[in-house]
Amino acid sequence: MVSAGSITVAVRVRPPNVWESARLPEPCFDTGLRGDGALATPGRAGASPTGLREVVKIIDDRVLMFDPDEKDRTRAFLERGFVPPGTKRYKDKRFIFDRVFDSDTKQVDVYEGTTRPLLDGLLDGYNATVFAYGATGCGKTHTISGTDKDPGIIYLTMADLFRRIEERRDEHNIDISVTFLEIYNEEIRDLLTEPGSNVPRGGLQIREDKTVKVAGLVELHPNSAEQIKEIVLLGNTRRTQSATHANETSSRSHAVLQIHVTQSPRTASTTEQRSLATLSIIDLAGSERAAATTNMGQRMVEGANINKSLLALGNCINALCESGGATRHVPYRNSKLTRLLKFSLGGNCKTVMIVCIAPTSNHFDDTHNTLLYADRASKI
Ligand code: ADP
Ligand code: MG
Repeated sequence: MVSAGSITVAVRVRPPNVWESARLPEPCFDTGLRGDGALATPGRAGASPTGLREVVKIIDDRVLMFDPDEKDRTRAFLERGFVPPGTKRYKDKRFIFDRVFDSDTKQVDVYEGTTRPLLDGLLDGYNATVFAYGATGCGKTHTISGTDKDPGIIYLTMADLFRRIEERRDEHNIDISVTFLEIYNEEIRDLLTEPGSNVPRGGLQIREDKTVKVAGLVELHPNSAEQIKEIVLLGNTRRTQSATHANETSSRSHAVLQIHVTQSPRTASTTEQRSLATLSIIDLAGSERAAATTNMGQRMVEGANINKSLLALGNCINALCESGGATRHVPYRNSKLTRLLKFSLGGNCKTVMIVCIAPTSNHFDDTHNTLLYADRASKI
């Protein structure tokens, strides 16, 4: 179980896409024996003629190695007493996380290993937050929303939640409401605008007193997980996308789904025993650094704002973990995202970060940066 004020970090490696698969060397059998004497699983060792190789090797369900081939090559050189010029600093990088999911992992297994453990707390009245973090194209939206045929965490959470509520119906009145918004260039836009409209309503303001609310946001009262699945897939098509040099459909917005659970015992005559808890499930904007792109003008501003929100998020999590949620100032006010999550990070809240990475060398720098961010997060 996750301890109070801590953050659980899981890494999910996506499978190589068609373009990458075509450029990887043919699968081959590793000749080495595993520790238990069994033959190692098929791998894609060695460089391919087109230069693409796998740079993430999963050791077990908590450990991965970044850039394993580089290490092997360097070791071969070192054994001959020769350090090749330009040897990369970050060779032989072993990372340990709370969970590591390989590219064969099913949606339901990611859900069960990350988000399902939060439902008990949610039904006991504690807020919780799930993030998908990573560079564009590494599987955040797949993990959070998925597809109609292979839905992700949002759908699986709703399905579980409806089951759990059914079990508690005799003793509790339970109401669920759902909101879905994006934060784009520090502007809040509703992704649940009326059917037929494909323009999100923007310029919404955050109101804060004992809870945080976005004024004017559409609130749904769903009665099935299927309903939410459809709404989320539709809402995702309304998310703001923009072409950049780095990526044609680079996602520049944070998508925030919030599930608000209000409960009261059926026997209670007053609202005193009412509890309200929120689960926030967030598909963050791509984490690729603005500095790594050659964007100008408007795109530059977008990049700066993305970094501002991600940076603010990192700083808040850091401050919360260092202080144990006690006295230290937590800089929530530095971005819309962190203002929105003021009561959903730290304290008794649970936070899960699902870090998405690609398996191949064409994403080398992004993967390295992402793993370093995740590593810092997992140490707090
Ligand atoms: P992101 O939201 O991080 O930009 P996506 O979720 O859109 O990335 O993933 C990029 C592409 O890779 C999509 O076509 C998606 O369907 C595919 N993909 C990502 N993760 C997986 C996975 N675990 N299994 C199968 N396909 C995946
Ligand atoms: Mg996406």
